[in-house]
Amino acid sequence: MKDTRREFLQKVGVSAVALQLASVTTWAKNAKAEPVYDGPVLRVAILGLGSYATRVAEAMQGCTKAKLVGLISGTPDKLAKWQAKYNIPAKNCYNYQNFDDIKHNPDIDAVYVITPNALHPDFVIRTAKAGKHAISEKPMAANVQQAESMIAACKQAGVKLLVGYRMHFEPKTLEVIRMRKEGELGKIQFFQGLCGFRIGDPKQWRLNKELSGGGSMMDIGIYAVNGSRYMTGEEPIWVTAQETKTDPVKFKDGIDETIQFQFGFPSGATASCLSTYMQNNLDKFFLNGEHGYAEMQPSTNYGPIMGHTNQGELTQPTTVHQAVQMDEFSEIIFHDKQPPVPVDGYEAIKDLKIIAAVYEAAKTGKKVSISV
Ligand code: NAD
Repeated sequence: MKDTRREFLQKVGVSAVALQLASVTTWAKNAKAEPVYDGPVLRVAILGLGSYATRVAEAMQGCTKAKLVGLISGTPDKLAKWQAKYNIPAKNCYNYQNFDDIKHNPDIDAVYVITPNALHPDFVIRTAKAGKHAISEKPMAANVQQAESMIAACKQAGVKLLVGYRMHFEPKTLEVIRMRKEGELGKIQFFQGLCGFRIGDPKQWRLNKELSGGGSMMDIGIYAVNGSRYMTGEEPIWVTAQETKTDPVKFKDGIDETIQFQFGFPSGATASCLSTYMQNNLDKFFLNGEHGYAEMQPSTNYGPIMGHTNQGELTQPTTVHQAVQMDEFSEIIFHDKQPPVPVDGYEAIKDLKIIAAVYEAAKTGKKVSISV
């Protein structure tokens, strides 16, 4: 029945995001009526109208506590199309040159930067200087130094800096974290994170170190790094790593194709992870404790996330990650809500410090100490 409906919707051209929204709406309708939200709505401008921004904008149509109200783009055509599609007033549209004028716009609370990684810092710093809250995509920057400058600028301006870690709000992920925190898995002994996909176009910014800061580790391996931390509840203290490169033309110096890495944690737990731009079907987490385990596959894609533990299947609802993230960001910004796993700059810079240590371990062949 569900498959037939999905096939029908796909035939009539409904996008994957719309399909997810439809399922969630159906689920919501069947659930008990929620009280109508009458709190503050986070008014967001998206900067960089590329493929992930498209997904975020669609998902935000399902938000109750956040709303897409502004656009910033370097491409006039795109700006016009988006403006018409989302009914955005011209006074809330900017290009990269006049973007700083946003400081005089009282109708925008936050700017969500969704550009190539190395451009996040400059736009986040400009956002902070304009007195607006900054949301950056992951990785928050192309390196640790850039990330430090973003944190400093937001601190100085007294605005919040949040990073798009959508998995920190995903219900099945949160259930595994709850089980681990409440001791249901016993002492954690091991985490495995496998993250990868086969990357296409050799000319894209993801394969240009100036814009990306690195290869698969910066883009997809970061999910294993971040996952190893929220799954175990610990920070790694050492790393060993091995790099393999089968296509040195496509994956030039500084752009890692495949890296396997191992972490040690203070408790004695270890992790074994794989990050690659050369294999599909790699999206799997496994967490093992003395009394139980959790296995998730897919573990970090747009969903539905699926998984089971030694207690049975994970049955928490499927959500539109970006919609939940933006509603939660609204709560964090307006009410200082503390999410179960932090999403601020201080949290995100740790991933960049750990990735730098992974790169050093892969380059030197040595066990590298980590202190985040
Ligand atoms: P994309 O190439 O589809 O879009 C990038 C956008 O930035 C485009 O609109 C492009 O016009 C703009 N841009 C501005 N200056 C540019 C320049 N000098 N070179 C190239 N593009 C420039 O990329 P994307 O997949 O949307 O990724 C954008 C960011 O979002 C990245 O940081 C990426 O890691 C992140 N991302 C996050 C998730 C997630 O699940 N959280 C998923 C995908 C991407």
